[in-house]
Amino acid sequence: MEHVQVLIAGGGIAGLSAAIWCERLGLSCVLVEKNDRLGGQLSDIHNQIWDFPPRVYPDGAALLDELLAHRSIRALRPRLGEALRSIDLDKHLVHTDKTVYLADYLIIATGVRPNRIPALVGCSRVLQPWFSTTSQGTAVAGQDVAVIGGGDRAVESACNLLPHVRSLYLLVRSDRLRARPQWVERLRPHPSLHVLWETVVSDCREQNGKAVLTLDSPRSDTPQTLVVDWVLPRIGVRGNSEGLGQLPALEGGYLQTDVNLRVGADWIYAIGDITNGAAYASLSLAVGQAMKAVKHISLQVPSL
Ligand SMILES: Cc1cc2nc3c(=O)[nH]c(=O)nc-3n(C[C@H](O)[C@H](O)[C@H](O)COP(=O)(O)OP(=O)(O)OC[C@H]3O[C@@H](n4cnc5c(N)ncnc54)[C@H](O)[C@@H]3O)c2cc1C
Repeated sequence: MEHVQVLIAGGGIAGLSAAIWCERLGLSCVLVEKNDRLGGQLSDIHNQIWDFPPRVYPDGAALLDELLAHRSIRALRPRLGEALRSIDLDKHLVHTDKTVYLADYLIIATGVRPNRIPALVGCSRVLQPWFSTTSQGTAVAGQDVAVIGGGDRAVESACNLLPHVRSLYLLVRSDRLRARPQWVERLRPHPSLHVLWETVVSDCREQNGKAVLTLDSPRSDTPQTLVVDWVLPRIGVRGNSEGLGQLPALEGGYLQTDVNLRVGADWIYAIGDITNGAAYASLSLAVGQAMKAVKHISLQVPSL
């Protein structure tokens, strides 16, 4: 069993920032990342990033390139393809799918993943969660697309796709949009836009290269089936906290921390999207929390 001072789970911007702060404060760390690459959601950001001061980045890839070139990250030797699985709170043991660590401290920075709609599982006409309506909208030009959701990302996606597609169906589970007013205002009436309120997809089958959706709705003006070329689910995200059932969590798998970002035990911290919830998910907060968690750890270590 390997003994580590600080084990960081997750190689997105939160986990990577924590690793930088470990070096800054003289702590040794090991970072495990489930995927075979670092960066987490940074690779999915195709919009300009102008709210992570002071730089303006054309997209997440540009920011990630800079982050990976950081001296501390180049020296990090992250353990890719290794996922946090469970924790033994009393014994300071952290189980991954590769090994068991005896960790003085654990920082959970495992981020979020898109929610899935069970009825769409296995349908090849469903666009992947990382489909970018900003940079890839022309890929569905002239076609019929159903966007599912009523939050910011659904409405933003609908706005981005409208100039390209033949018909845009926005399927909203409730009778109103949850998106912020600035997005709702952009979604003006448009001949190609059809909003189906109080509508959920209960089944999806493929026919002649199209998706045939079965719709459930109490409204008489909603069709029972909808045939589209592509389906784009945008129904939010949930925290990557599987296997961590003994830690206090909020609805949606988000870990609930105390003011020092500790969760469930005095040696376990959670930072970044896994604890922030959709409303506060941001690069700035993730990076700030990394500093705070590692600083708090450094203040607990007697020899420092
Ligand atoms: C399209 C898009 C645009 C955005 N635009 C902006 C913007 O303009 N400005 C802004 O401030 N924010 C933006 N955000 C939000 C921002 O990207 C996130 O807040 C931030 O990247 C969260 O970083 P994180 O490290 O907490 O999580 P993530 O980036 O999700 O990283 C978590 C990492 O943990 C890994 N992981 C998961 N489970 C495990 C496990 N069990 N064991 C080990 N590793 C695991 C994942 O593979 C991932 O690499 C955007 C997000 C998206 C999707």
